[in-house]
Amino acid sequence: MSSREIEIATELAAVESQIAAAAAKAGRDRSEITLIAVTKTYPASDVEILRNLGVQNFGENRNEEGVAKSAQVSGTWHFQGQVQSRKLRDIAGWASFIHSLDSAEHVEKLSRIATEVGREISIFLQLSLDGAPDRGGVIKPELMALADSVANLPQIKLVGLMCVPPVEYEHERAFSEIAEIHEGFLTNYPAATFLSAGMSSDYQIAISHGATHLRIGSQILGSRPYHP
Ligand SMILES: *Cc1c(COP(=O)(O)O)cnc(C)c1O
Repeated sequence: MSSREIEIATELAAVESQIAAAAAKAGRDRSEITLIAVTKTYPASDVEILRNLGVQNFGENRNEEGVAKSAQVSGTWHFQGQVQSRKLRDIAGWASFIHSLDSAEHVEKLSRIATEVGREISIFLQLSLDGAPDRGGVIKPELMALADSVANLPQIKLVGLMCVPPVEYEHERAFSEIAEIHEGFLTNYPAATFLSAGMSSDYQIAISHGATHLRIGSQILGSRPYHP
C-alpha cells in the first residue's frame, strides 16, 4: 500500500468505528446510515482508493469535478453543491442524488431533463434553519409549499431533506431542530425518509438525531486547500 492508501484507510476506519459507536449509542442499525465520502477538491486517485476500500457513495459540490471523477471511478454519485440552472443537465448525467435543491424551478427543469434522458433522479430538498442565503435552502415555513409543487413531477423521487446547520448554532440544538422538522415533513411525505445531515465536525450528533446520510470529507481525506 502507498502511504496515501494507508492514510486514507486509517482515517476511514476511524470514521467507520465512530459511526458504528454513535449508531449503537442511539439504538440504531448501522445499515440505516449511508456514508457519502465528499471528495470535492481531492484527486480521482483518492476516490479510487476509497472505492477499493469499499466506499460506494461519493459526493461533489462542482459539476466539473463530478463529471471527471465519476467517469474514472464507478459508484453512486451525489451532488450537494449550490445548484446552477445551466449546469443541471450535466449534473443529471452523473449524479443519482441531488441534495441541494431549494427551488421549484430547478426541480421542474430537472424533471424535464430526467424525462428526456429516461433517468430517475432522487432529490433531497434543502432546509435552511436561519434563511441565510449563502448556505442555500428554504426555511421551514416554505418547505411544504416547495415539496407540494415538486412532489409529483415525473422521473423525480423525493427521498428526504438535507440541511447544513449554521456554524454559530450549537450542534445539539441544530440537529434536534432538523429532526423535528423532518418528523413533521414525514406526516405529509411519508416516503421522504432520508435525512442528509452531518459533516466531519458533527456527524456523531447528527446520527443521534436520525441522520441517514452523512456527507464526510475532511475527516477522511484531510483538510482541503480551498473550501467551495
Ligand atoms: C464540503 C461539504 C461537506 C463535507 O464537509 P467536511 O467538513 O469536509 O466533512 C458536506 N456537505 C456539504 C454541503 C459540503 O459543501
